[in-house]
Amino acid sequence: MALIVQKFGGTSVGSVERIEQVAAKVKKFRDKGDDIVVVVSAMSGETNRLIDLAKQISEQPVARELDVMVSTGEQVTIALLAMALIKIGVPAVSYTGSQVRILTDSAHTKARILQIDSQHIHKELKAGRVVVVAGFQGVDEDGNITTLGRGGSDTTGVALAAALKADECQIYTDVDGVYTTDPRVVAKAQRLDKITFEEMLEMASLGSKVLQIRAVEFAGKYSVPLRVLHSFQEGPGTLITLDEEESMEQPIISGIAFNRDEAKLTIRGVPDTPGVAFKILGPISAANVEVDMIVQNVAHDNTTDFTFTVHRNDYHNALQVLESIARDMGAREVIGDVDIAKVSIVGVGMRSHAGVASRMFEALAKENINIQMISTSEIKVSVVIEEKYLELAVRALHTAFELDAPAGKGE
Ligand code: ADP
Ligand code: ASP
Ligand code: MG
Repeated sequence: MALIVQKFGGTSVGSVERIEQVAAKVKKFRDKGDDIVVVVSAMSGETNRLIDLAKQISEQPVARELDVMVSTGEQVTIALLAMALIKIGVPAVSYTGSQVRILTDSAHTKARILQIDSQHIHKELKAGRVVVVAGFQGVDEDGNITTLGRGGSDTTGVALAAALKADECQIYTDVDGVYTTDPRVVAKAQRLDKITFEEMLEMASLGSKVLQIRAVEFAGKYSVPLRVLHSFQEGPGTLITLDEEESMEQPIISGIAFNRDEAKLTIRGVPDTPGVAFKILGPISAANVEVDMIVQNVAHDNTTDFTFTVHRNDYHNALQVLESIARDMGAREVIGDVDIAKVSIVGVGMRSHAGVASRMFEALAKENINIQMISTSEIKVSVVIEEKYLELAVRALHTAFELDAPAGKGE
């Protein structure tokens, strides 16, 4: 008998019919004798709807109140799924994050899980019930409701699996696994049988929203066996594995990730003295803005141009801070650009192969796509390009790194 945590995403619980289908699926596992804890997201579109409502009151709603509201989406689906299970003869009970006591810090809208009390869940399982837990939400020390950031139900699933020492965490979604790139953008993308935690972490942090990055971090840290599967189609899905050996036989590049959520800021003609980076990025970080890629050039006239990217949500805030820095430092001008995108190739195979980056640049050059920024690590190369070329770039790279499915195999 195994203990399995199964997480179902928004589209998988997007209607009453689908919730009933999920209940039937859970029943099948339970009939085999497994103990099941189910984590659900809100119905698809619901979290966005709630956020839109809040924004009608205020452009920047108070984070505590936003959490009180957006967490209701998951409260609806846990109750509906528990009802659906009970209706087909499966004893079930729903739990909100605070009822379980998923303790988080107090960083509303992006809280981190600190501790999970597994006591209630173990008791319910022992009594023969399926436990249905609300994803995406927790509670802080003072009893305030918190949420874990968009896509956070994945993290609830994995964190629960770690706390309960589950045999496997299964992430059920609307695709049948992790693909070489988003199958909605590249029809020839291929499902991967396996991907390493390290690669999945890069893919998630570089924009592949199939798994929330913190979920992958948790799974790696606590060695939770993690699998991504289709909610309503049979298949092996994708196993996220610690085992790098196997994946060395795979192509050099495992996948291509992309991100449209960034914006680029440039401060030009800054007098080039020691401490420039600190003088620019210190106030940016003090304004709580996270910086991603950074490029600094030295010009001929002893001034430098300094460019960096931030999340698009932070763009206006960062621009304001940068304009005031520019005045203080006597810089020539500040330029902002939101029409950019970041494309990244990811693979542990890069460690043992030279020339990967130049192959990437060649593929982009052939399509006449200008590269604005570059950053590399041991297992990834990222470039910033004009947003309108994003899909073209991803397709070109997918072909250049021989990731395209053989004819007839793509979706
Ligand atoms: P859920 O609501 O189930 O959490 P998400 O929308 O968060 O589902 O994640 C699944 C989506 O992730 C897919 O529909 C797909 O478009 C997207 N996606 C992005 N990159 C990838 C990838 N490399 N492999 C599979 N899916 C991906
Ligand atoms: N409902 C939340 C969201 O839309 C959490 C999740 O779906 O994982 O971001
Ligand atoms: Mg998701």
